[in-house]
Amino acid sequence: MNLRRDREALEARELRELAPYAMKARESRGRRHGENEHPYRTAYQRDRDRIVHSAAFRRLEYKTQVFVNSFGDDYRTRLTHTMEVAQISRTAARALGLNEDLTEAIALAHDLGHGPFGHTGEDALRDLMKGHGGFEHNRHALRILDELERKYPNFQGLNLTQEVRDSLLKHGKRQLCLEAQVVDACDRITYNAHDVDDGLAAGILDAEALTATALWRESSEVVTRRWPGLDAGRRRYHAVRTLIDGAVTDLLDASSARIAEAAPRNAEEARAASRRLVGPSPAMEVKQAELARHLHTHLYNEYRVQRMRRKAARFVAEMWKTLVEDSAQLPPSARAGVEQYGLETAVCDYLAGMTDREALREYRRLFLPGDGPRFE
Ligand code: MG
Repeated sequence: MNLRRDREALEARELRELAPYAMKARESRGRRHGENEHPYRTAYQRDRDRIVHSAAFRRLEYKTQVFVNSFGDDYRTRLTHTMEVAQISRTAARALGLNEDLTEAIALAHDLGHGPFGHTGEDALRDLMKGHGGFEHNRHALRILDELERKYPNFQGLNLTQEVRDSLLKHGKRQLCLEAQVVDACDRITYNAHDVDDGLAAGILDAEALTATALWRESSEVVTRRWPGLDAGRRRYHAVRTLIDGAVTDLLDASSARIAEAAPRNAEEARAASRRLVGPSPAMEVKQAELARHLHTHLYNEYRVQRMRRKAARFVAEMWKTLVEDSAQLPPSARAGVEQYGLETAVCDYLAGMTDREALREYRRLFLPGDGPRFE
């Protein structure tokens, strides 16, 4: 007896169990290059698996979120950030009756386009690429997924479904499906919470000063009430946990109220709604903005974090200029792109693909005497 549930059974279950406004794998707008469907994975499960098996995904491990690796091993990297976003997004998607597989695929792909050294690296590349097509991490993620990952015999890129590709074009005209809206909202909840956690752990943020923000004050008060006398480490953990829980609960309540009001009959109507249906309540929006402002002032602009960021931006800019001025120094893998995309874009792709660690190594190879060549 074969007990395997094949793809058709999974697709039928989606139609039966998901909300009418959820995306269903069977209703996907498909892939750019035609492919046969998989026997026992839906289109979105396959997208998720392709992302996890990509080189760009593995590189997230050595890419900065806020702290570069040299700060220590306990801080978030882009990989652990991505996993936290995926986990929180899946919970929210499931609670709203949305497509959990699509949500997970979108979450796992959402930060693939970041270059080395986080937003600092992105700012540097954006300045350098002015007049050469620009640089923006969401657009670059799509470029990685459509062009730069090369492993399939019949096409470039990973050939993901249109729904996952659309989710990366957040700034385009097209509205996002609700699954992508979930990831967007949960990304913000996640980084606000873990940046507080990491900032406190690093001793850069001050727990007392943080109580000036409503979100931290309220979370801390809950912990004090429930577990008086808890040590500082456990207090921090439970306050962060309470903060995430409160934000997700608010997201679910506010979103289901908005969805109920708009009453979309299918995913297309939900996407086309005049405003985003998934998002925090106005009160939570204000509180999140307040916390974000505190983080900007006391964490992202703290002098040690700033030094690290400026240094990183300088690295990236020096390497880009050197390689654009003298492309003979480009390794063959990167030189192949020069003819296809132009020199500046090929150098940008080469640098944007690097992890923090690899960018530092490359900097030493390019500029410091005594650092050996790289052998491909
Ligand atoms: Mg993110």
